[in-house]
Amino acid sequence: MTLRLYNTLSRSVEDFVPLVPGRAGMYCCGPTVYNYAHIGNLRTYVFEDVLRRTLRFNGYVPMHVMNITDVGHLESDADEGEDKMEKGARREGVDVWELARKYENAWLLDMGRLNIERPEIICRATEHVPDMIQLIERLLERGYAYATEDTIYYDTSKFSDYAKLARLDLRGLQAGAGGRVQLNTEKRHPNDFALWFLKRPRHLMQWDSPWGRGYPGWHIECSAMSMKYLGPTFDIHCGGVDHIPVHHTNEIAQSEGATGQPFVRYWLHGEWLLIGSEKMSKSIENFLTLSALAERGFDALAYRYLCLQAHYRSELRFTMDALEAAQQGLRKVYAVRPDRDPLSDASAYADARAEVLAAINDDLNVPQGIGLLNRYGSHRLWCEFDSVLGLSIAERAEQKDEALPSDIAALVERRNAARKARAWDESDRLRQELIDRGYEVGDGPNGTTVRRRPI
Ligand SMILES: [Zn+2]
Repeated sequence: MTLRLYNTLSRSVEDFVPLVPGRAGMYCCGPTVYNYAHIGNLRTYVFEDVLRRTLRFNGYVPMHVMNITDVGHLESDADEGEDKMEKGARREGVDVWELARKYENAWLLDMGRLNIERPEIICRATEHVPDMIQLIERLLERGYAYATEDTIYYDTSKFSDYAKLARLDLRGLQAGAGGRVQLNTEKRHPNDFALWFLKRPRHLMQWDSPWGRGYPGWHIECSAMSMKYLGPTFDIHCGGVDHIPVHHTNEIAQSEGATGQPFVRYWLHGEWLLIGSEKMSKSIENFLTLSALAERGFDALAYRYLCLQAHYRSELRFTMDALEAAQQGLRKVYAVRPDRDPLSDASAYADARAEVLAAINDDLNVPQGIGLLNRYGSHRLWCEFDSVLGLSIAERAEQKDEALPSDIAALVERRNAARKARAWDESDRLRQELIDRGYEVGDGPNGTTVRRRPI
């Protein structure tokens, strides 16, 4: 059964044929670590994780690379606005480096709570500046870049395929962008973008380069790191749809400009999470974190289940009611009994399995797959596809049967009652007591979950 994926480049669903049989190279744009991840960002990582797991389910060995943007990234993708890292550091009164590590750790913790598998390589931008410098040198040599007084720019007019990913109307942009060009008289074309910033003495992170001390533009890190680990041409590149017109467009221009070879074969993009009618982004106030959901008694995996119930190319409207429904739905999944399997007949099982796989392999139609799994109600089938879904079905189902010592069970009861009464201090105190008694404590759809810590 062939895996088929929607390729933004061709605007069509294509058979996935990897460059190297049996392997799948994959690069995903990672977080800018200046604040906690909001659940809109997390939706994209859940989608990428499902893709990675689906590749593996189909027998491919993934080589998954993700970057950490820990060097300045301006608020607008188009080289304007304030530096997000420096703004964050000022807000918290810490060093930019400290800020980066703090939020990188918080992000890794969120990934773990959502059962997102760790990519083979997680690479920090600040540790790859020499790779970026090399790439910029190559672009200068090949005539794709030019230097101004204080910036090295990519010359988009030299790259004839610049519009191909986003199907940009460059003439329209040219005509409409007069105001922006005037802001920076040295930039030759409105779409040109910064590769390296120079002579910005107040910027906190600086490196030596052949052009003087400075720091990289945002887009160059993804070209440099993806090609370093996956080669000049690789299989899959993912990100949110918001990256199509600027960031990914610029990545293609940089990479193909430097190597003269095709950069990425399949571009996959995850749609927005909407809150009310607004898209979820850190620049607007309505931003929610996984911890904020946990405080309201929601399991991170309930959020994951909510994400899985919408196709990755559809917008998902987030409401607390929808999350509550997902948590209830997940509770039902965990309650599916292993002993009365409706698919005990081998051929019935094989047919059902093929049907679910066909849905998932059809451009990751996981919502349809989940619909089928719910219809069949087979614990074994759920568990098999949990390697794609990542809902910890076997573990959570088993946990119910685990007998707890009565004093521990009493602490769990008291903590559940405290949470119900929103007595957070008491709930935290009881949590700590359970930890001190040697238990791992989690928040599941049925309340507190505990498990003896392995020694
Ligand atoms: Zn990127």
